[in-house]
Amino acid sequence: MEYLIMESLSNRMKFSKSEEEQYFAIKKGYEGEVLFDSYYENCPENWLILNDLWLKSNNSIFQIDSLLITSTAHYIFEVKNLTYEYLLKNNRFYRNGNELKHNPLTQLERCDSLYRHLLKQLGYNVPVISNLAFVNPDFTLFGTTEDHPILLPTQIKLFFEKLKRKEWNASGSTPSTRKTTARGIVTTLVPDIGSGSGAEQMKPTQTQIKLAKHLLSILIDKPPLSNIPSYDFETLEKGLLCLNCRTFLAGPSKYKEHIVCHHCGHVENTRKCILNAIKEYQLLFPNEKLKTDRIFKWCKVIICQRKIRRVLLEHYFKEGNTNTSFYSDFLKVANQRI
Ligand SMILES: [Zn+2]
Repeated sequence: MEYLIMESLSNRMKFSKSEEEQYFAIKKGYEGEVLFDSYYENCPENWLILNDLWLKSNNSIFQIDSLLITSTAHYIFEVKNLTYEYLLKNNRFYRNGNELKHNPLTQLERCDSLYRHLLKQLGYNVPVISNLAFVNPDFTLFGTTEDHPILLPTQIKLFFEKLKRKEWNASGSTPSTRKTTARGIVTTLVPDIGSGSGAEQMKPTQTQIKLAKHLLSILIDKPPLSNIPSYDFETLEKGLLCLNCRTFLAGPSKYKEHIVCHHCGHVENTRKCILNAIKEYQLLFPNEKLKTDRIFKWCKVIICQRKIRRVLLEHYFKEGNTNTSFYSDFLKVANQRI
């Protein structure tokens, strides 16, 4: 979420130098997590994967980048997207002779011990295995030994292959074709039933499901986003962004259903561009009501207000009378009315 907001703002306002650095750091973290998620591809059907969890234990708040719940253990992964060469000496990290201010090992240890404490509190007794995962192929760390809970970029793939094999052997099942989920979305607690590996489908045990549900029920809100620069509707640059290269698009000609990006040549359906702009508006202004005239201003290059209204009607639920009408998400409306 933080990354998506910053990414949107980076196109629509001028960042100061420190904001740009923040954006770069957030972007790098996000890309690292996406890269890490790719290792979950084709994982056993009974694995439960919970990403970006914010929890509270022993009066302390902590975050888990990725938690893997297998049938035998819980794996915590602290994902790092560092680049270049580092040295590990006496459990401290150095880059060009300077010690890293935030020691990733200390972070991992804190997370590990708070999570164990939480499990104990909840009444579960499960082995917990924690690892730092350095995902960037341009990262090197000197001074590690096998004793360190560290996975280097060249080791992650093998680590997961071994883990998958272990799970398949334990259950007497064969590899499946399950795909992983996008970051930020918690995997379904009952995985999809694949279409025919021929083998008996592996399902998470009741304990796995119960524990995952338990964890999801006690998630705390992510701390407020302190890194986001302040912004308002008036000062942000309006317009539709190319879905491919993120440059601003010139408007479509009056009767055309498509817009061509003059920067990269990408051709996109106008309605899709409008819908994308609406979603961006909702992301940046979650407390504002969706109104046609506002979105009309936001899209800027669409000269026909009816086109905007049509997209809103197609994808949202209209509420109120003509002059004061606004649009809500279908799901939100449905939930309110249940
Ligand atoms: Zn483009």
